[in-house]
Amino acid sequence: MATAVRRPTVTTWVGSVPVGSAHPIAVQSMTNTDTADVEATASQVADLAAAGSELVRVTVNHDEAAAAVPRIVERLEARGVSVPIIGDFHYNGHLLLTRYAECGQALAKYRINPGNVGAKRRDQHFRAIVEVAIRNDKPVRIGVNWGSLDRQLLTELMDQNAQRSEPLDARDVMIQAMIESAMRSARLAEDTGLPHDRIILSAKVSGVQDLVDVYRQLAPRSDYPLHLGLTEAGMGSKGVVASTAGLAILLQEGIGDTIRVSLTPMPRGDRADEVRVCQQILQSLGLRSFMPQVSACPGCGRTTSTFFQEMADQIQRYLIEQMPRWRERHPGVERMRVAVMGCVVNGPGESKHADIGISLPGTFEEPKAPVYVDGELRVTLKGDRIVEEFLDILNDYVARRYPSPVMTP
Ligand code: SF4
Repeated sequence: MATAVRRPTVTTWVGSVPVGSAHPIAVQSMTNTDTADVEATASQVADLAAAGSELVRVTVNHDEAAAAVPRIVERLEARGVSVPIIGDFHYNGHLLLTRYAECGQALAKYRINPGNVGAKRRDQHFRAIVEVAIRNDKPVRIGVNWGSLDRQLLTELMDQNAQRSEPLDARDVMIQAMIESAMRSARLAEDTGLPHDRIILSAKVSGVQDLVDVYRQLAPRSDYPLHLGLTEAGMGSKGVVASTAGLAILLQEGIGDTIRVSLTPMPRGDRADEVRVCQQILQSLGLRSFMPQVSACPGCGRTTSTFFQEMADQIQRYLIEQMPRWRERHPGVERMRVAVMGCVVNGPGESKHADIGISLPGTFEEPKAPVYVDGELRVTLKGDRIVEEFLDILNDYVARRYPSPVMTP
């Protein structure tokens, strides 16, 4: 699969995770618990990490939250979870990081929103956070957001624009302000003494076309790694599709070194869905592999629908259940392609293109299911144990094709 050449960047280490063009695009997520609730936050961080989040951000919004951070990190270490924790600061980050030294030490990175560090003493507050980062040898993400854009800077650029003989439209000035805010803040951070390779930038908006335009203009301005995400993406399929649309365009152009999909969770939904969507975006684009990919046909009038859907679901669930064990024992299995098809129309053809595939019997077809392995017809299954027999063949295939690494004594 042809993938884009990544925009070259420096490498910024966030705890043990390297972020930049020489490294895989990192998946990140954010908790929605009250950070002061140590148990709930540690537990959600652990769930997000188990789902594959390589970086997890928590809000640090008041004294109790700042005091809780070192205890959250301790609790995670005790559970064997070593995912780097990022602190999200707005308005009072300079105070919290100064008052709670252990919070700054426990975090792996600080996210600063330059639009939310105070109007009057903006630079002074910004520098205070950067000085803590320098003392603790931590990176910062300068995260501009159009919902909290630096008003002073926007007004300055609007005034300049009004003087032009051919003024730009307001949207273009807003984009320019976001980029200027990120770049001026990065300059201020470096002037304060933060090393060049300790800075990550982001400039988030909630519209897909705006996101693409902002990052296309931001990317050539520096070699800082970029964090991508659509802010306030929304709920359900709207959030998934809008995030995918925006991120896919930029990733395909080589822009982006770490991503987050900011889904609004459904009531009683799983926060880790945002991690799985990130993984699926990266895997669909051929940029990383996390899970065997199942090509399943949508089914149609040719399938005995519930029979086919149940079989496809059983196979998909089996793969998900096996992955934690397979990932360790069978390296490379995450690149396996499995086809689960509903009838003979496209079934055998699609199965031949996969590593292993089954074509289930459609309505009015003979009750038999041809299984293809590495493009060849291996066996035709019949009877009411088709799924179990297919899973046995799948297990054999995984063990043979992705052998366990030889353990040295
Ligand atoms: S493979 Fe068969 S069952 Fe599946 S969508 Fe195509 S025609 Fe319908």
